[in-house]
Amino acid sequence: MDAGIKTEPTFRESVDLMFNRAVALMDLPPGLEDKIRVCNSTYTVRFGVKLRGSIHTFTGYRSVHSEHMEPVKGGIRYAIGVNQDEVEALAALMTYKCALVETPFGGSKGGLCIDPREYDEDELERITRRFAYELAKRDLINPAQNVPAPDMGTGEREMAWIADQYKRMNTSEINANACVTGKPPNAGGIQGRVEATGRGVQYALQEFFRHPDGVAMAGLNGTLEGKRVIVQGLGNVGYHAAKFLAEEDGSIITGIIERDGALVDDGGLDVDAIRQWIANHGGVKGYPNATYVEDGPVVLEKECDILIPAALEGVINLTNADRVKAPLIIEAANGPLTAGADEILRNKGAVIIPDMYANAGGVTVSYFEWVKNLSHIRFGRMQRRQEEARHMLIVEELERLSEHLGEAWTMTGDFKEKYLRGAGELELVRSGLDDTMRGAYQAMHNIWRSRDDVTDLRTAAYIVAIERVASSYQAKGL
Ligand code: NAD
Repeated sequence: MDAGIKTEPTFRESVDLMFNRAVALMDLPPGLEDKIRVCNSTYTVRFGVKLRGSIHTFTGYRSVHSEHMEPVKGGIRYAIGVNQDEVEALAALMTYKCALVETPFGGSKGGLCIDPREYDEDELERITRRFAYELAKRDLINPAQNVPAPDMGTGEREMAWIADQYKRMNTSEINANACVTGKPPNAGGIQGRVEATGRGVQYALQEFFRHPDGVAMAGLNGTLEGKRVIVQGLGNVGYHAAKFLAEEDGSIITGIIERDGALVDDGGLDVDAIRQWIANHGGVKGYPNATYVEDGPVVLEKECDILIPAALEGVINLTNADRVKAPLIIEAANGPLTAGADEILRNKGAVIIPDMYANAGGVTVSYFEWVKNLSHIRFGRMQRRQEEARHMLIVEELERLSEHLGEAWTMTGDFKEKYLRGAGELELVRSGLDDTMRGAYQAMHNIWRSRDDVTDLRTAAYIVAIERVASSYQAKGL
C-alpha cells in the first residue's frame, strides 16, 4: 500500500519508510520490527589537526546499525554534507545489504565532513590517520568488531593509511590487516575490489536480463546489447559499471552526468576518454567529442532504457521523479531515489533495482578480502597449478584418443589455453561475486513474482533481508 508521500523525508526516514512497507507484509514477533529498524549507536567525534600553521577541527561519525552479526561493516565517506542522519541511513542499508547477499556482517557506516579536494595528499593522510586513531581506540575499527571500507571520496589510499594506523596501535595483532577492506593489493587488499561495486552492477543487470518476466515488467526485451544507458557520477562505481556494460555487454552509454554538467551522445560516449578528461580538467565541461549540457540533473530525465544513478542520495526526488522516463533504474548509489520518488516511479510502472542489492558487489568482495586477511593466504594459491595439471591430463588423453582413432581432430580456437588455465585470485573473486549477485537476485525475484502483495523488487529485497536478520535474532536471542 502506498503512503502518498507529499513532503520529502530525510534519507534515514526514506530508508525507514521503505522498511515499513516491507514489514507491513511480514509477520514478525512483537517488538522485533522496532529492534531491527533502529540504529544501535552513533559515535560523533571532533578532532583537531594542525595544518598550514593553524588547527583545523573536523567532525566525523561512525554509526552501528545492527550487531546481530559481528564484525559490523560499512564504508567511510568523505564529503562536506556528511551528517548523522546520513550515516545512520547508510548504516541501516548496510545491515539489509549484508543480509541480502549473505555476508556475515552487521551494518555500520562512517563519514567525515570534509571536501577532500581542498587538501593535498599529505594533509589528507594526517587527517585520515587521526580519524582512524579516534575510531580505533573505541573499537570502531577492529577486525573482529567493526571493519570499514571505501565509500564516496575515499579509496584504496585512505584504506591503506587506516590499516597502517591500526597496526601501529596494535603491534602484536596478527589479524590487523583485516581491520579494513578496500586496501591496495600490495598492502593486504584483494584483486578486483576496486572494480567490485561497478562489476556487481553489471552482474545484477545481466541477471535481471536472464529473467524475461522482470524485463517485460520494465517494458523492455532482449539483452543488454544495444540498450541506451545514462549514468550519473563517473566515480568508482559509475565508471566501472559504465565501462563494463559498454565493453562487455554492448550497451550504449548515451549520457554521463557529473558535478559540473553532463555529456550526451546518442551514438555512445567513450567512458575511458571521459574519465581521463575529468581527471585532467576536474569536470566534464570542454570535453570535445560529445554535447555538453550545463544543467546536469536534467539529463536524468532524458529518454533511455536504463538509468544508473551512481553518485549520491536523493537525486531523484519529489521535484523531478515524474519527469524521469527510464523504464529501468538501477540504484548503484545508496539512496538515489527518495521514498517519495520511489512511489511516483513505481506508480508509473518503472522497475527499480534497489541499492541494497545493486551496489552490494563492494561489500561482497570486501568479505572475500576480510577472509583472505584472516586466512593469510591468497585465494587460488594452493589449487591453481593442481587444477591446471588435472585439466592437462584430460587434454592429453583426448589428444591421445584422437590420434589412436586416426581422425583429424583439433580443439577449437583458444579452447585448450582457456581450459588449461587454473583460476587465479581475480577469476575467483569475479566468480564468487557473480554467484552472489545471481543468488541474491533469485531470492528477491522469487518473492517479487510469487506474492501478489509484493509489487516491486525493493520490497522483495527488504523482506528477504529482514527475514534473515530476524531469524538471526530469534536464533541467538537479543
Ligand atoms: P566516488 O567519490 O568515487 O564517485 C562519486 C562520483 O559522483 C564522482 O565522480 C563525483 O564527481 C560525482 N558526483 C558527486 N556529486 C555529484 C552530483 N551532484 N551530480 C553528479 N555527479 C556527482 O564515489 P563512489 O565510491 O563511486 O560512490 C558513489 C555511490 O555509490 C555512493 O552513494 C556510495 O555510497 C555508493 N557505494 C559505493 C561503494 C564503493 O565500493 N565505492 C559501494 C557501495 C555503494
